Amino acid sequence: MVRAFICPECHAFAAFESNRCTSCGGPLGLCLATRSMVLLDDDAAVVDGKQWVRCTQAGPLGCNWLVPAEADPAARGRCLSDTLDTSREAGMVLHADRVRFNAPRDIAPRESYADASIEELLADWKWVSMFFNRVNTAMGKNPLYPFEIGNGVAEKLGFVHKVVKEVPL
Ligand SMILES: [Zn+2]
Ligand SMILES: [Zn+2]
Repeated sequence: MVRAFICPECHAFAAFESNRCTSCGGPLGLCLATRSMVLLDDDAAVVDGKQWVRCTQAGPLGCNWLVPAEADPAARGRCLSDTLDTSREAGMVLHADRVRFNAPRDIAPRESYADASIEELLADWKWVSMFFNRVNTAMGKNPLYPFEIGNGVAEKLGFVHKVVKEVPL
């Protein structure tokens, strides 16, 4: 089923949360952009001409999502789900009646998106990432998340999200 990712090295089944192939032992990461399991070399990989590295929560939380590489390693980001989670833990809420942009509603990152649709997750992410991008830009840094999630990617993220939801905890 859709849950079955494949180790690109030995083509063995790889669970979606795999950090390492249980068959050949190769280090693995999940690339959302291509919705594929990627073999890592020194915790990095090139996918579609771009450099990807493990999310900063790979160690602490065992997260296997890949994030775009940053020349400066200290600037490396958490992945989308980790960033929403961190925002929630900090109590961050974007109040629609206080922000200067046109938010459609209060944006409060949820404890879990397991029961949310991918559209709901991406809608929250759109506003939260816009906020972080503005903070970074105000500090003279590059945007935290310099990507537009187009329909194609949203579709792929929907695929991954569906996979995540289907796995019993
Ligand atoms: Zn393998
Ligand atoms: Zn992560």
